[in-house]
Amino acid sequence: TAAADAPTGPALLLLDLDGFKDVNDTYGHPIGDDLLIDVAHRLRALTRPGHTLARLGGDEFALLLPATTPTAATTLARRILTTLATPYRLGPHDIHLTTSIGIWTPTPDTTPTPAEALRDADLALYAAKAAGRNQLTPFDTTLRTARLQHTRLAAGLRQALTRNELSLAYQPVVDLRTGTIRAVEALLRWTPTDSRPVPPDVFIPIAEDTGLITDIGHWALHQACTDAARWHTSHHLAVTVNISGRQLRDPAFADHVLAATTRHRLPPAALILEITESMLLATTPAETTRIIAVLTRLRDHGIRIALDDFGTGYSSLAYLRTLPVDILKIDRSFTTAPTAADHAQTRAFTKAILELSASLHLQTIVEGVETHDQAVLLQQLGSPLAQGYLFSPPATADQIDDLLHTTP
Ligand code: C2E
Ligand code: CA
Ligand code: CA
Repeated sequence: TAAADAPTGPALLLLDLDGFKDVNDTYGHPIGDDLLIDVAHRLRALTRPGHTLARLGGDEFALLLPATTPTAATTLARRILTTLATPYRLGPHDIHLTTSIGIWTPTPDTTPTPAEALRDADLALYAAKAAGRNQLTPFDTTLRTARLQHTRLAAGLRQALTRNELSLAYQPVVDLRTGTIRAVEALLRWTPTDSRPVPPDVFIPIAEDTGLITDIGHWALHQACTDAARWHTSHHLAVTVNISGRQLRDPAFADHVLAATTRHRLPPAALILEITESMLLATTPAETTRIIAVLTRLRDHGIRIALDDFGTGYSSLAYLRTLPVDILKIDRSFTTAPTAADHAQTRAFTKAILELSASLHLQTIVEGVETHDQAVLLQQLGSPLAQGYLFSPPATADQIDDLLHTTP
């Protein structure tokens, strides 16, 4: 192949262990140190004469191959991924760990400095992490453009709160039997001054990366409680607020939430926090235990917890039974039927999930209901709560005020 015939040149592999910090936090630094030594030995066993292996700091390693091909570099990187994923036996513990790798090889007609090569390898490593970890990503120049865009948005986002550029949209959650609005979901909106709105799917991951989500999430919680207090008094509505993993791990989170309900005089029973399964699963057992304690404390005060995007994650049924959760939000990918042939399957899936939910004494909210047919089907299956464009798109607080005044 062309790649195999490519002339030999240098390659730089940048490695970072996934979740190493959790290992330190869970098992202590001496075990963390032993693990790093073990990793270094495994890496050394894979290197050849002429290769340079270095620990750049923390859990980051670099491997410089002076003469290789992109194909050979990728093959080696893949072997490293497998080798480092084998469990580590340290004292009484069996520790499982994956690695992310960024691969830099020279692009034709350029002679980068070592610093530039290192920076580009780092971009590739960052992309491997962002793509879900446990993988390798070769550098290419589009990563530079993406990074630049990321940096610009992060800088803009830093000003968003003080410039009053954030707002909340609210999407009604309706009772399918009666058509009444029972709750609203608060959805963040960002419209930078002098520019078009940036979609939440774009700016929320950046807010999480940069840690800005702590302040932004705090703002959203207070704004949602202010608006919801009014709607709860007049129409008994609840409000559901999306919470990111980073907020949940903030030791002050539960206090913040309880303070917000008190300050805005919103009964705790009128507040629902939406979290996703991945927030609970993608962490160490110790962290899961901490998060469950936080959620349990909030529930003891009457605040409800909803599991968002249910059906898209690793949903283990055994797991569901032990989680402090009150509501399942069924992701729209489950309830949309693109073709008639899928219709029976969609129906079967939806039915199964609704039954599961009921047997666990959980409430269900079906998301993304767009058509009358879907609503009819859900009604037949006995689903009481639904959300989607069919009923209302996300609306401004003023629009919700109007909507509530025109509906009994
Ligand atoms: P999500 O929590 O799953 O929110 C539902 C998304 O589906 C919203 O997109 C909503 O506008 C959209 N949607 C509602 N009905 C329909 C429908 O009938 N059809 C279709 N195709 N889509 C529908 P949005 O507002 O763009 O939010 C995207 C994601 O951003 C949210 O997904 C949530 O994960 C995140 N997000 C939004 N606000 C916040 C927030 O305050 N905090 C955090 N941490 N994340 C937020
Ligand atoms: Ca949500
Ligand atoms: Ca959702």
